[in-house]
Amino acid sequence: MKKKTIDVVYMDYQATTPCDKRVLEDMTPYFCEDFGNPHSINHVMGLRAKEAVEKARKQVADLINADDPREILFTSGATESNNLAIQGAARFYREKGNKIITSVMEHKCVLEACRALEREGFEIVAIPVLRNGIIDLQSLEKAVDERTILVSVMSVNNEIGTIQPIDEISEICRSRGALFHTDAAQAVGKIKVDASRVDLMSISGHKIYGPKGVGALYVRLKPRVRLKPLFFGGGQERGVRSGTLATPLCVGLGKACEIARFEMETERIRLTELKNYFLKKIFDSLDKVYLNGDENRRIPGCINLSFDGIEGEGIMLGMPDICVSSGSACTSDSLEPSYVLREISIREDLAHSSLRIGLGRFTTFEEVDYASSRIVDVVNRLRAMSPIW
Ligand SMILES: *Cc1c(COP(=O)(O)O)cnc(C)c1O
Repeated sequence: MKKKTIDVVYMDYQATTPCDKRVLEDMTPYFCEDFGNPHSINHVMGLRAKEAVEKARKQVADLINADDPREILFTSGATESNNLAIQGAARFYREKGNKIITSVMEHKCVLEACRALEREGFEIVAIPVLRNGIIDLQSLEKAVDERTILVSVMSVNNEIGTIQPIDEISEICRSRGALFHTDAAQAVGKIKVDASRVDLMSISGHKIYGPKGVGALYVRLKPRVRLKPLFFGGGQERGVRSGTLATPLCVGLGKACEIARFEMETERIRLTELKNYFLKKIFDSLDKVYLNGDENRRIPGCINLSFDGIEGEGIMLGMPDICVSSGSACTSDSLEPSYVLREISIREDLAHSSLRIGLGRFTTFEEVDYASSRIVDVVNRLRAMSPIW
């Protein structure tokens, strides 16, 4: 049999995922046919759109085990959800205290939302993470007090894939009466997430094979969590997020959640096998390669490796047909090493030598085999040329 040649290999599933064709198919009618405004429910076109949006709300709620679909608000993505959760809660509960607690390894949009609050006079505490990329629960326990409005800790880290101890964090928050928000953009659809453990949860469409430009925020109803809106208008989405909902995008997010719910477990097993094969090939062929982040408490689709002696950017330049991300990515125009790797005390040179390899729904065995061979070749070639190696 003639081997299919591989053109480009996409292994950057933490940056974004392709939209699943089944998702696009469900979205399509809501652009040109059922285009009604889901808030104009006094006629049939509006009602059709509203029905579609409410079905999607239920699909999102089901994936995260929310009690009531009304607990799901649609937003433009996890960046907006995170900002709304953190700034909205801080400003609403200002009377209660002024402390907001987060971790040092959060996504930039969480850290920057906290920084904005700091300028308004809130006290921000960023809890350190241990060398394995898991939050230091003892520090957290010490930091949360009666004046703490909100604790925001991500469910899964986007750079190293580590899974945070959500149940333990939830207990600490509940025992002190603090709200708990989790940025679950990298967790939903990959591991079981449970809204019963949190008060607020952020979701992104394009990280779970849905469209870009849509996300959701879970906002607990019992007991009710209140938020100050970020902007003002018609008072849609329980008065918290004004603006006409993008029906096709909501439908897409809902379908993406439904597919994830049904396929999560088989996909987890398949990705674990691909990851194990990939790592075995790398470790069998190369010395001085290190896996960043806890070996076990991680999602299989996010592999972060440091290749001693060479730069991650250099590896990427050597294999332009393989789409991965280097340790200085996310803000790829800066050549600063990743702050996440710095926070888990990775040596600076090893942080510069890191690659994040993301596997996902459309990754095949052939691609993993091909990409791992390419990486081994490029690393060997660069090391052979390196004066310090
Ligand atoms: C991608 C991502 C975001 C931002 O999501 P958008 O929908 O692109 O705004 C936030 N947090 C984490 C952990 C992410 O991976």
